[in-house]
Amino acid sequence: MLDRCSVGFFLILSWLVEGLNASAGDANPQYRSCVKQCEETGCVRQRCFPNCKFSGVEPLYMQWKKWDCQSDCRYFCMLDIEKEKELRNDDPVKYHGKWPIKRIYGMQEPASVAFSALNLAAHFHGWVSFFVLIYYKLPLKEEKKAYYEYASLWLIYGLLSMNSWFWSAVFHSRDVDLTEKLDYSSAVALLGYSLILAILRSLNVRDEATRVMISAPLIAFVTTHILFINFYKLDYGWNMIVCVGMAVTQLTIWAVWACISHHPSRWKLWFVVFAGGLAMLLELYDFPPYQGLLDAHAIWHATTIPLTYIWWSFIKDDAEFRTSNLLKKSK
Ligand SMILES: [Zn+2]
Repeated sequence: MLDRCSVGFFLILSWLVEGLNASAGDANPQYRSCVKQCEETGCVRQRCFPNCKFSGVEPLYMQWKKWDCQSDCRYFCMLDIEKEKELRNDDPVKYHGKWPIKRIYGMQEPASVAFSALNLAAHFHGWVSFFVLIYYKLPLKEEKKAYYEYASLWLIYGLLSMNSWFWSAVFHSRDVDLTEKLDYSSAVALLGYSLILAILRSLNVRDEATRVMISAPLIAFVTTHILFINFYKLDYGWNMIVCVGMAVTQLTIWAVWACISHHPSRWKLWFVVFAGGLAMLLELYDFPPYQGLLDAHAIWHATTIPLTYIWWSFIKDDAEFRTSNLLKKSK
């Protein structure tokens, strides 16, 4: 969740602190000439890449090969330069906004891929256990509908979360224009949807017409924003403002609601809001990857795995709490 958006936010913050020298690596003339030469010859020293040999047939396939060629050239030029620097005991620097991270099975950021997959698994587990609780464990109304009024909203939330973590895993495996847009778009959709859900749940909006009235302007805004970043311009600064705005609003709503609602499981809400905020600091103290694998971003993805469990546990508590209240009232 929040993924690229808060990354953007903290990247900008850390840029301000570091004085805009975040990607020193790709400014290095040695790196630039290495990449340029590689894209022309298809080789870095003795190592040559089949993807750099274009024999033009299908445009889409060609485009894909071009991306592969560029990414192979960038990666092996970076490795070469970083290896030399290691011998001189120099610290690693960033390339194109990212730390030099070792590939595993062709995955660009293997640790982030693994943690994204685990986040997906955690959401799947939460989503299934929520479904089982609602439709098999808790009593149902006569027409087989759940008493809990937010059941279908949370089920859709689970699907959007899984979708978002899926594209996060794909994006960290291979960072190209297409995967980046898919990752950003699903993150924006998830953030917008969870903001709507936070408003509806905290204000206890159960009436269909009011729900539509509250969500319509937000859905319109989020849809426009997704179309904008995909088909007009991926403006990182503006996208960051939109995402951070939606995330902070949502967290504030949950925190305030936890304070005033006397919800029996409010400590879980508190915990997720605070730990989530703390975990985001990892993006601020962005350090070089440990062993060339474990960077701050990956560790940040790791911290959201346990938070996902607590979050779904809160959602399930809420379902039980609302259901037992409604049953008490109906007696
Ligand atoms: Zn990520």
